[in-house]
Amino acid sequence: MTQDTLLEANPAADLTKSKSLIHLKGVSKNFRTADGSERVVLEGVDFTLKDGEIVALLGKSGSGKSTLLRIMAGLLPADKGIVKYRDQQLFGPARGIAMVFQSFALFPWLTVQQNVELGLEAQGVSKEARAEQAEAAIEMIGLAGFEGALPRELSGGMKQRVGIARALVMKPDVLLMDEAFSALDVLTGETLRNDMLELWESKKTPMKGILIVSHNIEEAVMMADRILIFSSDPGRVRAEIKVSLPRERSEEMPEVRALIDEVYTQMTATPVEVDTTETSAQNQAYRLPEAEISQMEGLLEMLADEPFNGRADLPKLAEEAGLSDDDLFPVYEALRLIGLVHIEHGDIHLTSLGQRYCQADQAFRKHLFGQQLLQNVPLAARIHHSLKMEKSGEIRKEPFLNLLEEFLSAEEAKQMLEVAVEWGRYGEMYEYNYHTGMLKLPDAE
Ligand code: ADP
Ligand code: MG
Repeated sequence: MTQDTLLEANPAADLTKSKSLIHLKGVSKNFRTADGSERVVLEGVDFTLKDGEIVALLGKSGSGKSTLLRIMAGLLPADKGIVKYRDQQLFGPARGIAMVFQSFALFPWLTVQQNVELGLEAQGVSKEARAEQAEAAIEMIGLAGFEGALPRELSGGMKQRVGIARALVMKPDVLLMDEAFSALDVLTGETLRNDMLELWESKKTPMKGILIVSHNIEEAVMMADRILIFSSDPGRVRAEIKVSLPRERSEEMPEVRALIDEVYTQMTATPVEVDTTETSAQNQAYRLPEAEISQMEGLLEMLADEPFNGRADLPKLAEEAGLSDDDLFPVYEALRLIGLVHIEHGDIHLTSLGQRYCQADQAFRKHLFGQQLLQNVPLAARIHHSLKMEKSGEIRKEPFLNLLEEFLSAEEAKQMLEVAVEWGRYGEMYEYNYHTGMLKLPDAE
């Protein structure tokens, strides 16, 4: 068996000598939510994957990364904008583009070999050629000897190797990887990541470009030539960071640490809102990060304590907390919104108010928090003000839900109000009765 089988480029790859593999211009996508309202998931996305590069797309979960990948793979049409693959407009799945999924997406009743052959079968490749090409792909990804195994007999890492073999067997020109390492434990993910990089550097496959979608900052820094940061609501490319380090990267290298810090800074930076329509302004004003008070308190205490003493490198803090970036970003955002921390250059530090907060007793903490809420969180301020204006000091939750539903789905509006209620209760600005659905001012002492 030769690896040459995989070396022959897909015919689609030779169509043109274009430097741009995938090109997106002004791509937008809306989804209709369960309650029938439209939700803008992607808006005005511009993106190019060039020949010879690995690009990482980093964004929070729910920001539309998978949707964008499906559009690039031709699996989902864009509502607006242009999607091109090698200068040809894309109207459906293209031969040269293959995808690897987080969930592996293997057929449990098929063997490794059969799973890998599936795509070839669909292309009408003969039985013998299929077997030969699948074997080459399986060997290339380090699964030789497991051709006859069923997915349930494999570890997570091996299952994802099958997922990758299934993509490689199509001799893709472009590989799209959607959180392909996220479901694996850290070590397995790292090993597989390195194997992919080795494969890429060895040029044993005709792959000309890889797009990795991830929410793992380290993964992006270790693998990519270029990191794009994706914003949420709506999703669009917000920042770009070039990585001009040789591919043999280790987390111990100071350049790598500096880059990780830079990406953290960008990820936690407040987006500069170019869109100033009313909806967008309200969106900015009323959308709150979903962070619980206990999480905020926990993180503040860790930050205030040894060894950080008020200032920490974000990745170190995450490590100490044993939490993922996905868990922590809403907490950072909340603390910054309230004015208790400041974030710059990948570091988080207590503001002077944050320091006072950490030294205060519970009653004074609540007082400070409440004051900051009124100043910095328009939704909380609006609830508080409306209650003050009301003679009875009570209002049903519905008017606030209606306000939020002008730009959020019913489900999201409910969540947002829950966050505002939790924060407001803690800051003793208002209370909420879950039985009656009434918001009210706290009882005067
Ligand atoms: P990510 O991959 O960044 O986590 P997704 O692209 O999966 O984000 O989803 C972005 C948003 O679009 C989510 O709020 C999700 O619920 C919504 N969404 C995704 N696919 C659909 C669909 N087919 N119908 C309705 N909403 C969808
Ligand atoms: Mg996704």
